[in-house]
Amino acid sequence: MFKNKKQLASFFVVTLIITLMINMAITWYSRSASKEIDYGTFLTMIQNKKVESVKIENNRLLITPKIDEKSSVSDKKIYYTGALNDPELVNRLQAAGVKFSTPVKDVQSPIMTFILSWILPFAMFYFLGTLITKSLGKKMGGGGAMSFGKSNAKVYIEKKTGVTFNDVAGQEEAKESLNEIVDFLHKPSKYTEIGAKLPKGALLVGPPGTGKTLLAKAVAGEANVPFFSLSGSGFVEMFVGVGASRVRDLFQQAEKNAPCIVFIDEIDAIGKSRDSQLGGNDEREQTLNQLLAEMDGFDSSKGVVILAATNRPEILDKALLRPGRFDRRVIVDKPDLKGREEILKVHGKNVKLDNRVNLGEIALATAGAVGADLANMVNEAALRAVRMGRDEVRQDDLFEAVETVIAGKEKKDRIMTEEEKSLVAFHEVGHALAAALQKETQPVHKITIIPRTMGALGYTMQMPDKEKFLHSKDELVEQIVVLLAGRAAEEVVFNKITTGASNDIERATDLARKMVTMYGMSDKFGMMGLESIQNTYLDGRAVQTCSTETSTEVDREVLQIIGSCYEKAVNLLKANMEALCKISAYLIHKETIMGDEFTNILKSIPR
Ligand code: ADP
Ligand code: MG
Ligand code: ZN
Repeated sequence: MFKNKKQLASFFVVTLIITLMINMAITWYSRSASKEIDYGTFLTMIQNKKVESVKIENNRLLITPKIDEKSSVSDKKIYYTGALNDPELVNRLQAAGVKFSTPVKDVQSPIMTFILSWILPFAMFYFLGTLITKSLGKKMGGGGAMSFGKSNAKVYIEKKTGVTFNDVAGQEEAKESLNEIVDFLHKPSKYTEIGAKLPKGALLVGPPGTGKTLLAKAVAGEANVPFFSLSGSGFVEMFVGVGASRVRDLFQQAEKNAPCIVFIDEIDAIGKSRDSQLGGNDEREQTLNQLLAEMDGFDSSKGVVILAATNRPEILDKALLRPGRFDRRVIVDKPDLKGREEILKVHGKNVKLDNRVNLGEIALATAGAVGADLANMVNEAALRAVRMGRDEVRQDDLFEAVETVIAGKEKKDRIMTEEEKSLVAFHEVGHALAAALQKETQPVHKITIIPRTMGALGYTMQMPDKEKFLHSKDELVEQIVVLLAGRAAEEVVFNKITTGASNDIERATDLARKMVTMYGMSDKFGMMGLESIQNTYLDGRAVQTCSTETSTEVDREVLQIIGSCYEKAVNLLKANMEALCKISAYLIHKETIMGDEFTNILKSIPR
């Protein structure tokens, strides 16, 4: 409750004054309620039979007078007089028929009185005070009314993060560059003796969910040093200057605890470039300035290392990135095939896996997934195993989890009409056939016409046999043919087109556009770049860099590619009508077929 000695002292003074006042008030009240009389008057009252009862206390007599019918109620007072050593008193009282008594013993020992009138008020005030600060603190969102401008970094200090490099898989390069920092935190002297300056800070850059936060914790865990973690948005408050003082406070604490790691997550919240013209943000700029100043000011040889993470490095202020500040950049990119397998292994350790589980296969099916996705998939698989009443996670649980993450959950209760069902089946088999009958495409893994919660009425899953980093023009064209073959099948078989191809069309168009504007694969523009990517680590949106006239021609080129690919798809399916019909009929019957079933039927049909 008390942040410092000052507050404690003021609490004491206030409570003391209030208690004094209360005690005085009680004394005054009891005084005014009773009236002192002398012993003579008392004796006269007894003689006149005006006394109802007498209470004999240690050193005084409390006298309750008889209620006088004539006098008013307000007259009813208790009198008291000092107790004289009067041996006759008892006889006199008895003679006058007055009730009298004396307390059995002193009811309230002096200690009790002291506790009641002095300690109790203190306790009550303390209790009340705590209650008020707590409820106020909740309303003010955390820190409490008194703690504006204080860093809440200490809230986040974890002596041991408990995470080591073993928990981070598939980021070998990142780990390697961070290893040096770990070594430095272990033995700073080794570096300072030779005169080497270590980087003050390292910036972890990469898409969301690749393990940046995890890596920072692992560095602290490996080096076995305290870990101060604060999110960039945690610095910025409504009041100008609060963020700056938080930064100051954070660095002060860090220097006290050296060697240690200061981790600023999502640093783009404060590190945004200051040159943006649209109305500056004073508070953010002040916070950034303070951060820059602190990073310059502190002595890195003491062993304070600053790590920061962001997925938008391009918007960071240049001053942050210059040597002497975050001069080292560690890329934490999406994991490749091997990386994904290792991440699956790390997370697979936490669940009971059937010994037939092949994580390499799952890794192949999850191109583009990041660590967070994979962790989620393993967990989904475990949940499914429990749902199915099993005590081990099997390969099909894992595959189902992959599909759940990609396409949503199965929606078994959606009822499709027979016609819709066969339309979807022919559409999907169209995709699958186009994939199987071309050379450069990925093999079919699974075809299903069970709808999913994320909108797909059915889908064809392809799985590569190995991971590829380069794609040829032929490959891309074939991929577009596969995407358009769904619609082609609808048209060839039913002579009817539906809304079911919208996603295919979107993806095909996107691919065709990239071929023209970015990959230099069109005859017309050759190698001219017409679009550039922004936000590499987030949505990767492309921005046109060409004139509107050119843009019109780009559209024409894209249309031409799509048109010719669609024609190819139609021709391909027309030439394989028997396979299309046979496999579709089988799919309508079974609802889901796997890649090898599909290949077997396809092989059994003479061509
Ligand atoms: P971000 O890069 O967005 O900071 P996090 O570090 O918060 O990502 O990762 C979120 C979760 O995903 C982690 O807690 C961990 O369970 C899992 N994860 C991400 N990357 C990895 C990885 N390389 N190895 C193991 N687990 C990972
Ligand atoms: Mg993070
Ligand atoms: Zn489709």
